[in-house]
Amino acid sequence: MRLSQMLFVTLREDPAEAEIPSHKLLLRAGYIRRIASGVYAYLPFMWRVLQKVSQIVREEMNATGAQEVLLPALQPSELWKESGRWDTYTKAEGIMFALVDRQQREMSLGPTHEEVITAIARDMIRSYRQLPMHLYQIQTKFRDEIRSRFGLMRGREFIMKDGYSFHVSEDSLKETYADMDRAYRRMFTRCGLRFLPVEADSGAIGGSGSQEFMVLAEAGEDEVLYTEDGNYSANTEKAVSLPPDAEPSAFTTFEKLDTPNTPTIETLAKFLKCSPTQIVKNVLYQATYDNGMNVLVLVSIRGDQDVNEVKLTNELVKLGSRFGGKTLLALTVPDAEAQAKWAAKSLPLGYISPGLEDDYISKQNNLHPNFLRLVDKTAVNLKNFVTGSNESGFHVVGANWGTQYPLPADVVDVRKARPGDRAIHDPNQVLQSARGIEVGHIFQLGTKYSAALGATFTNEQGEEKPLVMGCYGVGVSRLAQSAVEQSHDKDGIIWPPAIAPYHAIVVIPNVNDAAQVAAAEKLYTELNQAGIETLLDDRDERAGVKFKDADLVGIPYRVVTGRSLQQGKVEVVKRANHESQEIALEEVVSTLKQWVTDALNNV
Ligand code: ATP
Ligand code: MG
Repeated sequence: MRLSQMLFVTLREDPAEAEIPSHKLLLRAGYIRRIASGVYAYLPFMWRVLQKVSQIVREEMNATGAQEVLLPALQPSELWKESGRWDTYTKAEGIMFALVDRQQREMSLGPTHEEVITAIARDMIRSYRQLPMHLYQIQTKFRDEIRSRFGLMRGREFIMKDGYSFHVSEDSLKETYADMDRAYRRMFTRCGLRFLPVEADSGAIGGSGSQEFMVLAEAGEDEVLYTEDGNYSANTEKAVSLPPDAEPSAFTTFEKLDTPNTPTIETLAKFLKCSPTQIVKNVLYQATYDNGMNVLVLVSIRGDQDVNEVKLTNELVKLGSRFGGKTLLALTVPDAEAQAKWAAKSLPLGYISPGLEDDYISKQNNLHPNFLRLVDKTAVNLKNFVTGSNESGFHVVGANWGTQYPLPADVVDVRKARPGDRAIHDPNQVLQSARGIEVGHIFQLGTKYSAALGATFTNEQGEEKPLVMGCYGVGVSRLAQSAVEQSHDKDGIIWPPAIAPYHAIVVIPNVNDAAQVAAAEKLYTELNQAGIETLLDDRDERAGVKFKDADLVGIPYRVVTGRSLQQGKVEVVKRANHESQEIALEEVVSTLKQWVTDALNNV
């Protein structure tokens, strides 16, 4: 491709709309343009990158025996009602774009395709003889993200590879899941990314496992915790660890103390000169179930620890049947406005005791009359602890479960693991923290969707069973941008050669110099013929501008037909380290061919 003929416009200044380097660079170098919030046009360079990423993904998927399909983006609401996700996706999370067609039928633009694929499996898979079966697609997805930002990182329209596998048993599912783990590692390695597979939250869906693949970068929205020995890594949402030991309490008798202005653990510990590990803090949440029932949840946890709301959500979903709910629509810390709606009298906020009486809750429909009392494991074994008294400005000390307060029957693990905690697999290992961009997620789904939609098969014994399912996603467009986030310098993008839009760019410093033009045209043709995807910068621009643009765009190898032509040589510059060498004209093609081949065979 000749740059003079290409839709190619670069910007000198950082666009105001972009916050992180990769977003700025993709805009500045003319890869993408914003059309609406979270909606981008992929311009010629970007589209080539996306096709390369897609092709790597496709090759690795095909190598596992998965079959490529293309499912509709437009989906009928009926399927989502069958799975029970229509309301959650349109109302609770509101992440699905829903519409009404001219016949007044509700439809949506697919944020994901479990429903559609399960409906197909229900119709077409009958017998264990057809299993296992794995179908995938590479397709545009739509999600009305609340915080769409950072360009392609969190778009409202984006490209995803999503695959769904069907099995006779959990064992068969686990085999495919392990295949996917290997395939994903190969894909991301081939794309030239530094990544970390981490244990991930499987959410309310349950299933026995889920793993995310994180591209390590400061701008990542996720925090991962890992150990140096390489034996543990998890998304913070899911991570577990050993809490620090609690210090023994100095208080031996139960009494109520005047503790003015101590509504936080920090102020209280300072006032009483005690360790936060001797305090039981009681945190109030409001849970709304899908049947509309609101439940007030009181979580007692050791003072130095925090509640992990993802873990708490999972516990509340498990307990949902007590309140007639299947899933949780919302989990919030009730603010003054929310409290005003249900509190029968004003709450002793900051001084709440584990024994907060149920008569704080007013009698209302859709409001459970009792607190759901949960105690985190860290608070169970504390003796003579400090906690709230239910009276503002006062705390109690020397308190014990079973004496002053009954120990809640529901003992849970909802504590947030933190960097610096000891690891469970080896207490000598300490958890470290890193930021990551989630580019892939593999998931053992089990029978959630097949059971809901009635997708069954006949097993070898002739029994009708629900299909066991797995699902596997790759954020293709997010991945492409994450490569930029991980690999750039002050001058621009440094593409890993495997996903660069072009491998090489031939720059003519002076288009009025016939010898320079002739040499460049010849190299341009020969390089392309040799399978090296090559651009020609034949624009009537100053050499300096061309070099700046080449750096910004990030093409791995730059060939300059400049002064050294007189010695029958050209300058070849590697974008990654600006290393420059003069190479004889007749050796340019074979040298670049070798470099590109080596770079593409990094697995
Ligand atoms: P996130 O937690 O980042 O919102 P998710 O867990 O909802 O993502 P999945 O449903 O697991 O995402 O989708 C599979 C993959 O699609 C993700 O691993 C991610 O790489 C990509 N992805 C998800 N949402 C977006 C988005 N809004 N823009 C770009 N890529 C996305
Ligand atoms: Mg995910």
